[in-house]
Amino acid sequence: MAQRMFGTNGVRGVVNDDMNTDLALQMGKAIGKFFGGKVAIATDTRVSGDMIKSAVCAGLMSVGCDVRDLGILPTPAIQYHIKTSDKIVGGVMITASHNPPEFNGIKCIDFDGTEMPREKEEKIEILYAGKISTMPWNEIGVLETYEGADEEYIDAVISHVDVDLIKKAKLTAVVDCANGAAYRTTPMMMKKLGVRAITLNADAQGEFPGHPSEPTEDNLADLIALTGSVKADVGIAHDGDADRAVFVARKGKKGYYMPGDKSLAIVAKTIVRDLGGGQVVTPVSSSSMVEEVVKDAGGSLIYTAVGSPVVARRMMKEGAVFGGEENGGLIFADHQYCRDGAMSIAKILEGIAKYGSLYNQVEELPVYHVDKRKIECPNNRKESLIEYMKETFSEGNEVDTTDGLKIIFDDGGWVLLRPSGTEPIFRIYSESKDEGLSKQRAAQFEKVADDFMNGL
Ligand code: MG
Repeated sequence: MAQRMFGTNGVRGVVNDDMNTDLALQMGKAIGKFFGGKVAIATDTRVSGDMIKSAVCAGLMSVGCDVRDLGILPTPAIQYHIKTSDKIVGGVMITASHNPPEFNGIKCIDFDGTEMPREKEEKIEILYAGKISTMPWNEIGVLETYEGADEEYIDAVISHVDVDLIKKAKLTAVVDCANGAAYRTTPMMMKKLGVRAITLNADAQGEFPGHPSEPTEDNLADLIALTGSVKADVGIAHDGDADRAVFVARKGKKGYYMPGDKSLAIVAKTIVRDLGGGQVVTPVSSSSMVEEVVKDAGGSLIYTAVGSPVVARRMMKEGAVFGGEENGGLIFADHQYCRDGAMSIAKILEGIAKYGSLYNQVEELPVYHVDKRKIECPNNRKESLIEYMKETFSEGNEVDTTDGLKIIFDDGGWVLLRPSGTEPIFRIYSESKDEGLSKQRAAQFEKVADDFMNGL
């Protein structure tokens, strides 16, 4: 077996340390051998983007692949370009998403614009580990630059919403692009939708001087304050490569940071309600709030393991209308089978135009309480811990082993135990409509697991 290079979001590392030009060149060759045709490439705004991209391009061309350079783009925009271009057989996105500015990464995109399934990444890893033959001088690939992928992408996004309705609502939005890949596309979309946009951090400054590029509540203090003080209809933020979007609703003069499960639930509800039904796909870690609103709207829910490629592929298989994760990554079947930040924004804006204040929509959601904890567990004991917990808690309760162990109680509350793929820890999520109960169950699971680990 070749060494595992691809994590859940591509190959990532610190620039000129483990993410360097030697790696990028060899990766380019391996990816080129794998695709064997014309490859599209794009970067987010990181200062190292051109360096890593140049090395990947050199590798691609040395094995005979032509390259189409799309410039700086959100990840879903290069995905859309690949999906809709006949001559492009695959793609490479140079991004480290929400990681700090010293990081960069190489992410492969499949021929249809979806994230690469693991089996294909393994093939690239095997090629990477070996010696790769290059082409004679007169058979190497050529590089072309392509402008306009940004506008084609935004036009596609807005074709899925009622533009006139949004225009008529005369909305105001505060938009925080984190100086990342959406710095042009999202303001462009606002203009096309007739939304008055006040932008923050909308420069291609790859050092992320405004705030770190993970859209957490702490990092978005300016956005939250401004959304309230200018009385905007919504505040919007992206992560570095804009496959995700998070939202700030407004209550009076105050901004309210919406956790990702609430935007997931609101969009799921809107889509199922508008279509009069349909299937929604989400991982087992998502709040039951999503299931409740989807069922109330006449739809049904399918649970998967955690990870957006898993959600996307299950959506394709089942013909689901929508899917997503609680980190703000939403997937729209009528647009494309990958997380799409701009599409999430367009849908939320349409929802405000149709159904009114975003904060009121939040208040209509059912309330669930979550207690999250983690316990240490060496990787070699993870399986035995899961087995033990299953034996201890399965009696009289529903058991779901889609990802880790989920124990579902009679009252609808549940506890999920998930081993981390990267760290020697287990995560415990306990959810219930009763706050005390969610806490009590989390504590009980923590204690039973701890005792087992300590041999008690
Ligand atoms: Mg991202």
